[in-house]
Amino acid sequence: MTATLIDGKELAGILRREVANRIAASAITPGLATVLVGDDPASGIYVASKRRLSVAAGIRDHHRHLPSDVTQGELERVVDELNSDAEVDGILVQLPLPAHLDTAAVIARIDPDKDVDGLTEVSAGRLALNRPGLQPCTPSGVIRLLDWVGVDIKGTRAVVVGRSDLVGRPQAQLLLARDATVTVCHRYTTDLASVTRTADILVVAAGVPRLVGAQHIKPGAAVIDVGIHRTDDGLCGDVDFDAARQVAGFVTPVPGGVGPMTIASLLQNTVTAAELHRRRR
Ligand code: ADP
Repeated sequence: MTATLIDGKELAGILRREVANRIAASAITPGLATVLVGDDPASGIYVASKRRLSVAAGIRDHHRHLPSDVTQGELERVVDELNSDAEVDGILVQLPLPAHLDTAAVIARIDPDKDVDGLTEVSAGRLALNRPGLQPCTPSGVIRLLDWVGVDIKGTRAVVVGRSDLVGRPQAQLLLARDATVTVCHRYTTDLASVTRTADILVVAAGVPRLVGAQHIKPGAAVIDVGIHRTDDGLCGDVDFDAARQVAGFVTPVPGGVGPMTIASLLQNTVTAAELHRRRR
C-alpha cells in the first residue's frame, strides 16, 4: 500500500486565503506583535515568515526586536505594553529565549486573550477543560490536516509521541476533545512500537530523527510527523518517510506537511482574537 500524502502547504495556503477574506470582509484590522529576543538565525527566519504571511493576509505588524542581553524586567515591560495596546490582538514571544531569561514568567505575563500561541496556563487550562480559548498552533494545524483529508477522528485510537507543552500535551487534549481514545508516549515509554501500532492516528513530536519506522505503524493509519531535522542528506522528520509511506494510509511529508500549518493557525488565532476584542468593546 502506498500512503496518500497530506499536502500541508496546499491546505495552509487555503487557510491563509480564508483569513485574508475574513479580514477583507470585516472592518477589523487585526494586529500581531511578534517579540524576538537576540539574533538566533533560525528564530529570525521563522519570525520573518510569520510577519510576512501575516501582513500578506491583512494583519498589522507590531514587531519588537530586543537585544540578546535584554533584562527580564525590560522584556516583561514590553509584554505589559503590548497587553495594554488596543491595536495589538495577538502576542507571540518567539522561543527559545536566551538562557538568562525566565521563559515561564514571560509567558505568564501575556494576556490569555492575546495568547495566539496558546501557551499560557489559562489557555492550557481552557483546552484541558474543553472550553473556548486560543489553542496552540501546531497541534490545531494537525487537527485541520486530519479533517481536510477526511480522517474521522471520533472513536479512533490516537497515539501522540511526545508530551511537550508546545505540541504533545495540547495535541492529546485536542484529539480527546474530538472523541478519540488517546495514549501519550514519551521518553520513558517501554516498547514504543507496541503502543504506536495500535494507533489509527499517530502524531509524532519527539524531536528524534526517524524515530518511527514501518514497524511502529498500523497498516492504513494516518501518520502525522511534527519533527523537522537538518541532516547531511537534507531535511527529515521524526518519521522515516520512505518506510512509513509503504504502510500508512496517510502520511505528512517533511518539509511541506505540518510546518506550514503552524503559521496558518497563528493567523487564524490572530483574527479570532481580534474578533473577540472588537465584540467586547
Ligand atoms: P517538541 O517541540 O517536538 O514537542 P520537545 O523536545 O519539547 O519536542 O519534546 C520531546 C518529547 O518527546 C518529550 O516529551 C519526550 O518525552 C519525547 N521523546 C523524546 N524521545 C523519545 C523517544 N525515544 N520515545 C518516545 N518519546 C520520546
